[in-house]
Amino acid sequence: MDLYEHQARELFAEHGILVPRAEVTDSPKEAREIARRLGGRAVVKAQVKTGGRGKAGGVRLAADPAAAELTARQMLGTAIKGHTVRTVMLAETVDIESEFYVSYVLDRAAGRFLAIASAEGGMDIEEVAATRPQAVARVPVDPAEGVTSAKAGEIAHAAGLPPRTADVLMRLWQVLVREDALLVEVNPLVRTRQGQLLALDGKVTLDGNAVFRQSRWGAETEAAHADPLEAAAAAKGLHYVRLDGEVGIIGNGAGLVMSTLDVVAGCGARPANFLDIGGGASARVMADGLSVILSDPAVRSVLVNVFGGITACDAVADGIVRALDDVRLTKPLVVRLDGNNAARGRALLDERAHPLVQQATTMDGAARRAAELATASREA
Ligand code: GDP
Ligand code: MN
Repeated sequence: MDLYEHQARELFAEHGILVPRAEVTDSPKEAREIARRLGGRAVVKAQVKTGGRGKAGGVRLAADPAAAELTARQMLGTAIKGHTVRTVMLAETVDIESEFYVSYVLDRAAGRFLAIASAEGGMDIEEVAATRPQAVARVPVDPAEGVTSAKAGEIAHAAGLPPRTADVLMRLWQVLVREDALLVEVNPLVRTRQGQLLALDGKVTLDGNAVFRQSRWGAETEAAHADPLEAAAAAKGLHYVRLDGEVGIIGNGAGLVMSTLDVVAGCGARPANFLDIGGGASARVMADGLSVILSDPAVRSVLVNVFGGITACDAVADGIVRALDDVRLTKPLVVRLDGNNAARGRALLDERAHPLVQQATTMDGAARRAAELATASREA
């Protein structure tokens, strides 16, 4: 999950990286006061979780407090690249001499981190990376060793950054480690005409698996979840990830759900989501899961794939049967129950005899059926 610029900035400052003075507000009147406190001139920055704000009109210079108020009024409530601007940050202006780019990003394939740095940072970094890759240095970082002063020097040297950026590079690594981040980025890191190194803009992506020990951002970042369905599911305690296909998927256990996604894809359909009900296949969990999936308009069929273990299949079937009383089923549901008490579970579903529910005995058969139903309704 991504943090807002002002949150990233706060983390940088806590780890000793210099940042310009700044304050956040949702009120144009207060924006005027903040600009006054900052000395009159201010940069007004839309707080939205997307890059490229500068080019989209989300970073604007205000010459005095009245202009800051007007700019804030114009920005608030509008959308920058599809993200509604709910707050703006006002920052003191700085005299930029050069703009650099520095980041650490998890390289999953290599099982380590990658430092990416360039002496040509700023708004055109993507273009620089695409047209002149040699201007962007990529240095592997072993997570066990971290960014020592030797490593920081190596990164700075490889990118052609001033040697004293090494200190920022070491501090930025501490941000990543201490905050459980998968990505930390400063763009631009600027050298001012007065010779200071300042982080002017930052992006931090936290590891969702570490939210339990980063409670500080937990509530806010969860509430600001990009996808409303994911937010609704998270509020119900479900492990749900929305994808862009048409077959809704419910399973117990992350491994089983992932293989179900693969099998559905192998049948020529695309999964609409990932939903792991784990060990708790109660009627409540089933009803919650089904209602979240059915409220996704892209879903054309739903596949429930459960391997009964500690949670036996009859308990899951009972959950489904009772969920059918709570949730109005509007799309075909294919159920495959196997494992502990599968026969009893299947019998319960047969007894309920819901016209939109059908059963399959194998995972392949169930996936094929759900895929057919999804494509058939697409063609209909
Ligand atoms: P992004 O486009 O979303 O990455 O937003 P940034 O915060 O990186 O701002 C875009 C650009 O605006 C930066 O690359 C700078 O060139 C410029 N900028 C941002 N803050 C200031 C500032 O305080 N003073 C000046 N002169 N330029 C700024
Ligand atoms: Mn930027």
